[in-house]
Amino acid sequence: MTKYGLDKIYNTVLLSHGGAGKTSLAEAMAFNSGMVSRLGKVDDGSTVSDHEPEEIKRKISISLAVLPCEWGGRKLNIIDAPGYTDFVGEVKAGMRVCEGAIVLVDATSGVEVGTEMYWDYCEKAAMPRLVLVNKMDRENADFKKVVDDIRSRFGTKCVPLHAAIGAHTSFQGIVDLLSMKAYTGAGKDEKEGDIPDAVKDQAQAFRDMLIESVAEVDDTLIEKYLGGEEITSEELITTLNKAVENGSLVPILAGSALGNIGVTRLMDAITQYLPTPKESKVIMEDGEADPDENGPLAALVFKTTADPYVGKLTYFRVYNGTFNGNSQVFNATQNANERIGQIYIMKGKTQEPVNEVGAGDIGAVAKLGVSETGDTLCAPEKHVKLAPVVFPATTFSEAVYPKTKTDIDKMGAALARLVEEDPTLTVHRELGTAETILAGMGDTHLAVAAEKIQRKFGVNVELTTPKVPYRETITVTSKSEYKHKKQSGGHGQYGHVLLELEPLPERGENEFTEKIVGGSVPKNYIPAVEKGVTEAYSEGGLAGFPVVGVKTTLYDGSYHPVDSSEICFKIAGSQAFKKGIQEGRPILLEPIVSLKVTVPNDLTGDIIGDLNTKRARVLGMNPDGGINTIEAQAPLAEVQRYAIDLKSMTQGRATYTMEFDHYEEVPAQVMQKVIAQAQTEKE
Ligand code: GDP
Repeated sequence: MTKYGLDKIYNTVLLSHGGAGKTSLAEAMAFNSGMVSRLGKVDDGSTVSDHEPEEIKRKISISLAVLPCEWGGRKLNIIDAPGYTDFVGEVKAGMRVCEGAIVLVDATSGVEVGTEMYWDYCEKAAMPRLVLVNKMDRENADFKKVVDDIRSRFGTKCVPLHAAIGAHTSFQGIVDLLSMKAYTGAGKDEKEGDIPDAVKDQAQAFRDMLIESVAEVDDTLIEKYLGGEEITSEELITTLNKAVENGSLVPILAGSALGNIGVTRLMDAITQYLPTPKESKVIMEDGEADPDENGPLAALVFKTTADPYVGKLTYFRVYNGTFNGNSQVFNATQNANERIGQIYIMKGKTQEPVNEVGAGDIGAVAKLGVSETGDTLCAPEKHVKLAPVVFPATTFSEAVYPKTKTDIDKMGAALARLVEEDPTLTVHRELGTAETILAGMGDTHLAVAAEKIQRKFGVNVELTTPKVPYRETITVTSKSEYKHKKQSGGHGQYGHVLLELEPLPERGENEFTEKIVGGSVPKNYIPAVEKGVTEAYSEGGLAGFPVVGVKTTLYDGSYHPVDSSEICFKIAGSQAFKKGIQEGRPILLEPIVSLKVTVPNDLTGDIIGDLNTKRARVLGMNPDGGINTIEAQAPLAEVQRYAIDLKSMTQGRATYTMEFDHYEEVPAQVMQKVIAQAQTEKE
C-alpha cells in the first residue's frame, strides 16, 4: 500500500448502539475497496474486523479494528469500534485518532440509548459526522420515520442527503438529493439512473429540506434562497462541506450494510464531506498546532494488544512526519528511547509489513519495550507530547481467584499484561479483604477479560462478587487493660498496659500517643506497645474488619525488671486494643458510592423504585430531552452487581457511573447479618 498525503486520508470511526451494523458496514467497505475478496458475515464469524474468539462467540465487537480501504485514490481508515457499552474504552481510543465519524442508526428501531450516548460523545468532541440509516432491507424499515426521529432527538442540523428507494425486500438503492440521480444495485454493480416515479415526491421534499438547511448556514446563500434565486450544485456542495466539517450540519444517508447497498455512496460521501488530517488540528497536551507532514515525527499510541503471533502489538496514529521501520524514536511520555523494528499497516485481523507510515495514517509495531496506550512517540531531536486518550472510570468490580496452585504464580503477571492492553481495566489489592480486585466497565467486560487470561496466558481464574471492605470503629471513649503474664520454669513473661480509646470525629486514620508518667511503662517498651496496637488496626474486635477513626492513648501500665520484654509489651498492646474496641460500643462502617444513572423517561420510575429497595438515597434528577440522569448514593454492598441489574431491568437502555464517596454507619439490623456472615466465614 502506497503512502498517502495528509489530504488524502480519512480516519473514520463507526459508532452506534450495539447491533446496528458497524462490523457489517466495515466489511462491505473493505470488500468494495478490494481489500478483501470475499464479503464476510458477522453471523458466521467470517468478517475481517471481528476475529477474537470472544468476539465470534458473542457476535459482538470487543476491540476496535482498523480497515484501510483504498477508494478513488484516497485512503479510508475505517475504525470499527464496539457498540456494547462494556467496551467504551475502545470507542474513546478510536475517536481520539479519527477526524470524522459515521453514526449508524438501525432503520427499524431508530435512535437507541447507545446512539444517544455516542452522539453525545461526538458533540463533546466536536466530531464531524454522517448518519447512516442502516438495515433498510429489513421488514418495517422506514427511512422517513427514522429521519424524523433523528431530527426530533438531535435537532434540525441533521438533514437527509439521500432518500431511500423502496424498503424491506424492495429496497434497491438511494437518490442523491444534490444530483437528483438514483443509484441502485449492490456494491460495484451499482447503476446510475433516473428517480423512480414512486419516490419522486419524497425525494423532492427531502431536497427542499436539504437546500433550506444548507442555505441557512451561509449568509449569501440565504439571501439568494429568500430572493427565489437558484443555488448552484457547486455552491451547495462547498457550503455543505464546510458545514459538516464545523459540525453545523449532519447529513443522513440510507443503506443496507448486509446487502452492500448505498455503501459505495457512503464511501464517496466520506471523501466528499468529512475532513482529512490536513484540515484538522493536531491536539497537543498544551494546545493545538497545524499538522506537519515533512516535520519531525509525532505519533500517538492509542491501543496495545497481545497478538498470538507477533506478541505485543502497539497501534499508533502518525500526526507529524513519517514513522519509519527499523528506527529509533523517543517516547516523550515515558521519557525513554524506543527501538522500532518491523512496522505494519493493520488490516483487521492481519498485518501487512511496510517500511514507513506517513503523517495522518495509522500503523502498528510489534514488541515495543516501554510504550503504553496514550504515549507519544516522537523524533529523538524534537520532543513533543500529544494529548492522550481520556478513558472513562470503571463501574464494575469482581474479585479474581486463581483456580489451581499453578495459576497462583502466573495470575499477577497475566493480570498486569491484561491491564496494559486495556486501559479501562484496573487491578488492585483490597487491603481490608485481602482480595485481588479486577474493575472494568461491566460484567461482560470482565468475563471477556477472564477468558482472555485463559486463552492468551494460560491462567485459569474465577470471578466472584468482592467482599465488602467494611471498617470498624467505636462510638464512645473506652478504657481497657491487659496484663500479659506467664510463668513457665525459669524466665517469665510480663507486660502490662492501660489504654484509652477515643473515637475521632473524622473517622479517618488512627492515631497513637502516650501519657506515661513516672516510668510505669519504661520508655524503651513504648514503641513495642505502639507496634502491638497498630498491628491490631487491621483486625478489629467486632467482626475482624480493619479499624479506623480511633485515637489510642497509652496512659499507664507496669513492668517486671527481669520478665518484661518488647514482645510482651507488644502482645499486651494489641490485646488491650482489641478489648478497648469491644468496650467502645463498636459499629461497622460501609462504603457508600455515588451513582449517576442515565435512563430514558419511560424507565425512570422503575429505576428509582429499584434504588429504593437497595437502601439508596435519591439526591436529584436532571431531565434532558427524553433522558433523565438520576443522582443517588447507595451502600456498595447493595450495588456491587448493579451493572447486571440495570442491564436486565432496561435491556441495556441505561448507563451509569459509580464512584466511592465515603464511609457510613451500617444500620443495626444489617450489621447483625454482616457479623454473623463474617463469623461463619472465619469458621
Ligand atoms: P455491530 O454490532 O454494530 O457491529 O453490528 P453487526 O454488523 O455485528 O450486525 C448485527 C446484526 O445485524 C448481524 O446479525 C448482521 O447480520 C445484521 N445486519 C447488519 N447490517 C444489516 C443490514 O443492513 N440489514 C440486515 N437485514 N441485517 C443487518
